[in-house]
Amino acid sequence: MNDEKILIVRCGEVALKGMNKPYFERILVERIRKNLSKINGAKVSRKEGLIFVRVPLDSDMNQVAAEVSKVFGVSSVSPALEVESDLEAIGSKAVEFMNTMIENEGVKTFKVEAKRADKNFPIKSPEIAAKVGASVLKGCKVLKVDVHEPDCHLFIDLRADRTYIYTRKINGLGGLPLGTNGRGMVLLSGGIDSPVAAWMMAKRGMVIDAVHFHSYPYTSPRAQQKVEELAEIVSSYCGRINMTVINLLPIQEEIVSNCPEDETTILVRRFMMRIAEKIAVKQNALMLITGENLGQVASQTAEALVVTDQSVSMPVMRPLIGMDKVEIMDMARRIGTYEKSIEPYEDCCTVFLPKHPVTKPRLEKILKSESKLDVEKLVEMAVDSAEQVQIG
Ligand code: ATP
Ligand code: MG
Repeated sequence: MNDEKILIVRCGEVALKGMNKPYFERILVERIRKNLSKINGAKVSRKEGLIFVRVPLDSDMNQVAAEVSKVFGVSSVSPALEVESDLEAIGSKAVEFMNTMIENEGVKTFKVEAKRADKNFPIKSPEIAAKVGASVLKGCKVLKVDVHEPDCHLFIDLRADRTYIYTRKINGLGGLPLGTNGRGMVLLSGGIDSPVAAWMMAKRGMVIDAVHFHSYPYTSPRAQQKVEELAEIVSSYCGRINMTVINLLPIQEEIVSNCPEDETTILVRRFMMRIAEKIAVKQNALMLITGENLGQVASQTAEALVVTDQSVSMPVMRPLIGMDKVEIMDMARRIGTYEKSIEPYEDCCTVFLPKHPVTKPRLEKILKSESKLDVEKLVEMAVDSAEQVQIG
């Protein structure tokens, strides 16, 4: 065990899942393995409610920790040393650990926090902490104990046959392992909001498919490439995304020629929903997901959202509904999609943008306008012309 480095992985909410816990943990282990496929010799195992990642000594532990902590379902990780559950052995490993902390991080004070998961171990936690503390003081002369504001907490997690020593807890993303909550179809634009919406649903365990609409030649191939690059960033969290790409221009032209100008946006949105629903059904997705948000723009008033929803029977999830734009932007930065999203390329929604869009559409009036169109045929044609792109 000395020719390996070890990372302790904690599962947070997964641990609350009662009877289903083994199922959630098994999926989580698979996800971690997948994320570590680039790291040579990484091994993932599960024991006593913890997950352990073992990697060869020459591995970059920061990279390993970063890859594991971005797996949904992981609440925190700790690079650790593993030692047999024997006080003397623990003491000398603790000295080894603290010497690297002095050297690398200039630590001057410390506090030992011991936890005894193995209640058969003859010595209680406070005494374990005292004994390890004494060993460290003896072995690292420059260190002092500070129980109030130590530079470094030295955690001793004593289990039946092995003890884990660590100083850092790096927060993971939390959430639930991918694949534990069905499949959803996100309407993915090149904007800031929809990638965040997809990420939020994936964080709760939902596998993500995407549909993207363009208006070529009014929108450029480069705009579509940007969306693929955005999806690629999202897929680094949520795995492979099947993206369906559709040219909406024929439908937009029909709407512009036959319906009132101020209704263009809401009519286009209802078509997007219908097409997305058709594709979702084909791909066994249970819900539609959008980046819409209450009141952000004219098409996102309460009335417009209701009329949009009335075009489909599938539930429409809007995980950003109550967030402010700044909060969404902060999240996009944390996820890593923000910089890509703000690249200035045109979106199909901005083609044929009405000067004064209706902000409080009424369903009867919208249905009347739609009666001038062959809705079913237009949807069918759009679905038939779809292209598939695999992301990630
Ligand atoms: P975003 O930042 O996600 O583009 P937005 O604030 O710009 O959102 P809209 O342009 O009104 O708002 O779009 C609302 C939602 O409709 C988007 O979040 C997205 O889910 C969907 N959407 C908009 N444009 C497209 C598109 N070209 N392809 C697929 N979905 C789209
Ligand atoms: Mg947009």
